[in-house]
Amino acid sequence: MKKNNCLECGEEIKGRADKKFCDDNCRNNHNNKINSEGNNLVRNINNTLRKNRRTLKAILKREEHINVSRQKLVDQQFNFKYYTNVVNTKNGTTYFYCYEFGYRILENNYIMIVKQSDKPKEKKVE
Ligand SMILES: [Zn+2]
Repeated sequence: MKKNNCLECGEEIKGRADKKFCDDNCRNNHNNKINSEGNNLVRNINNTLRKNRRTLKAILKREEHINVSRQKLVDQQFNFKYYTNVVNTKNGTTYFYCYEFGYRILENNYIMIVKQSDKPKEKKVE
């Protein structure tokens, strides 16, 4: 018969065969660890997204759009791996957004930064 070992401390478990932990203490420790790993991951990604947003916002200022070298974003630790959504336009352009600020890749390592308009694109037809 296969012996069960506690998922937390590795001790052999006595008692029911379907038990995964030796006691509540080990179960709680184990679950807390899993939760905090998940929370750290979420927090780090959220921080990265917020930082990306701040960087785009700081460069764009009040312009509608602005072209900058990719290096300018790299210099400010912009993380191209993370964005909140992708918008593909009808004419085949892809925009990567970090919240309301986004960018598209241009030629020659240039990047266009844009802000999502709050205004509706089309007038509502009544
Ligand atoms: Zn244990």
